[in-house]
Amino acid sequence: MADGGSWPGELPKASGLLFLCAGFGLITGLVEGVCLYLLQASRWSGETIDCLLVPRGILYVSPLADLALFVVLGFLAAGICGVSRGRISGKFILFLLLMALVFDWLAIAFDLVMDQPYIAILSAGISAALTRRLWRDRERLMAAARRFFWVLAPLVVLLGVAIQLQERSVTEAAAASLPPAPSAGSNVLIVVMDTVRADHLSTLGYLRSTTPNLDRLASRGVLFENAISTSSWTLPAHASLLTGRFPFEHGAELKTYDGRYPTLPAAFQARGYRTGAFSANTYYFAPTNGLGGGFLYFDGVFTNLGDTLMRTLYGRNLMMAYEAVSRSDLPGRKRAELVNAQFLNWLHQDSSRPFFAVLNYFDAHDPYLPPSPFRGRFASRPDVGGVLNGWAEREALNRPSDVQDEQEAYDGGIAYEDDRIGRLVSALAERGLAENTLLVVVSDHGEFFGEHGLYLHKNALFMEGIHVPLLFVWPGHVPAGVRVANPVSIAGLPATVMTLLPGQDRIKFPGSSLEPLWSGSGRTEEGQLILAELVSNSLSTEGANPKRSESLLNSRWHFLYSRGEAPQLFDWKQDPREQHNLADTDQGRKVVAAMMGCVQSHFIQIRQPGCGLAAAQLNPPTGDRLGASRAPATGRAGEDPLRSGLGDPGGAQGTRASASLPEPAHPSPPGSAQKKRCD
Ligand SMILES: [Zn+2]
Repeated sequence: MADGGSWPGELPKASGLLFLCAGFGLITGLVEGVCLYLLQASRWSGETIDCLLVPRGILYVSPLADLALFVVLGFLAAGICGVSRGRISGKFILFLLLMALVFDWLAIAFDLVMDQPYIAILSAGISAALTRRLWRDRERLMAAARRFFWVLAPLVVLLGVAIQLQERSVTEAAAASLPPAPSAGSNVLIVVMDTVRADHLSTLGYLRSTTPNLDRLASRGVLFENAISTSSWTLPAHASLLTGRFPFEHGAELKTYDGRYPTLPAAFQARGYRTGAFSANTYYFAPTNGLGGGFLYFDGVFTNLGDTLMRTLYGRNLMMAYEAVSRSDLPGRKRAELVNAQFLNWLHQDSSRPFFAVLNYFDAHDPYLPPSPFRGRFASRPDVGGVLNGWAEREALNRPSDVQDEQEAYDGGIAYEDDRIGRLVSALAERGLAENTLLVVVSDHGEFFGEHGLYLHKNALFMEGIHVPLLFVWPGHVPAGVRVANPVSIAGLPATVMTLLPGQDRIKFPGSSLEPLWSGSGRTEEGQLILAELVSNSLSTEGANPKRSESLLNSRWHFLYSRGEAPQLFDWKQDPREQHNLADTDQGRKVVAAMMGCVQSHFIQIRQPGCGLAAAQLNPPTGDRLGASRAPATGRAGEDPLRSGLGDPGGAQGTRASASLPEPAHPSPPGSAQKKRCD
């Protein structure tokens, strides 16, 4: 390499260009990694950094990713210069490398105050000025880049090794400090089918055979027909599943979960259990969102190359740009098959202790692109799905046939997850674990397909967004073939699990166990109002309803209230599609007034029957319910898309009832500026 690093003429030699690009890439990525990590840790970040959700490993991932990117960029630029036969100067290479470095750093520095297109213009100006200055000293620049490379490359490798070793030692130390496990402790396995709405399960009467395995499991356990999530998106719902708390309590909606309440895995860890989480929703059910507490092992970040690159600034930008113009799948999507494999591998590593594990399947989440043959299982034509893509900000459809296609692909995703649940249960049986493992199948929220003019989720608390499956299976401990019609909250899951596996626990979970609902003993949730919440937050304003919203549901009424709008009230059993807003009827006004009392009390008595309200207030005598006075709730009828064959792509938001009620004095959430969604 006598003169390999020199740049005497228009174009550098290949080896010199390699060092130049690698040096630029390493320094760019190292600064990026440090800044991302520190800014996010300090919460002094805007939407781009918030959405990257980086763990400490970003300190070596960013430099390595940028090294690769800058080498490709540099050689591409050199190729363009060569092909142009001198019409494009070699300065072009230098300009592009500088532009990539400057944009990267400015995008992070100005994340809070400036959009990326403006940052790109600013970067171009700075880079052009720097190019003119550095072009004259390009040979010195080349030598400096080489020195940078030889200093930074070993540093990044050492950093990666140190972080890996440190994380492994922390895990091993935590495992070594576990208290003695119960000699015959039973296991707990919770499978979260992300984004699966209850009415798309054949187990709950759906016309397509989406869930034959859950059908069989339901015949061996207890199925809750009317389980309600605590929110319509992943982060708050998962926080509720782990803590038994509602979003207004655990606070994991405006920001990551801060660990203010103990979690279910922490309770089992304290019993000496091995605890593990295996997540395919690597953005929200992840330690980087505060949901790693109590898990000795959490496989949820950097799970593959696509997921890893997505955490870097350029990786995310490039993939989002590609996603916007294609119908491709999410980069690095982790299939349920891999989730199962990782869980079973973890199980195999140590059988000396009982386990508590949570698996998250993500295959029914948009874009709906389940693997073959499930993508086409219910399809009326080839290649359905992939049009709706919240990540690429394609959040609505125009052609009625698109709605049908998307639903067919979505149903295929549910069928795929059901198939993998069947295989998981078989794998447990082969290991002799079927009889001493409590299996819980649940979802975190539902999905809209044009109902109420909405798509995806995280935008409203109508039943399509919060009605989810909930199933308990444990031969000999949970009765077989029982169906519970009472509406229940998924926030009752921790208390129920603790009731089924009693121990000398210091950690208690709020609310009533759901067990009396199938055993018929003791107190039940009968009469309790089921709460769901949606808070305008820094991570999402997807859809048309970014305001703070609450949903209260009892055995008959579903009350919906968004700040600044008139409340809505539906008789959800008579009107499951919530087409008829009864808030302005004589009877409805009484119910709405009672429900507003619960909202205005800040839900202090949400776990008391009727939120502490008199039963007569919530169930006034039948008057004009569903009578001639009830008005359609939507501007355009939102029929059941499966039955009608069409969705309601242009449907307006529900007609608001005219009742005007005082605004509750609920504290407004901090930092509720509207920003784009992350997933
Ligand atoms: Zn989710």
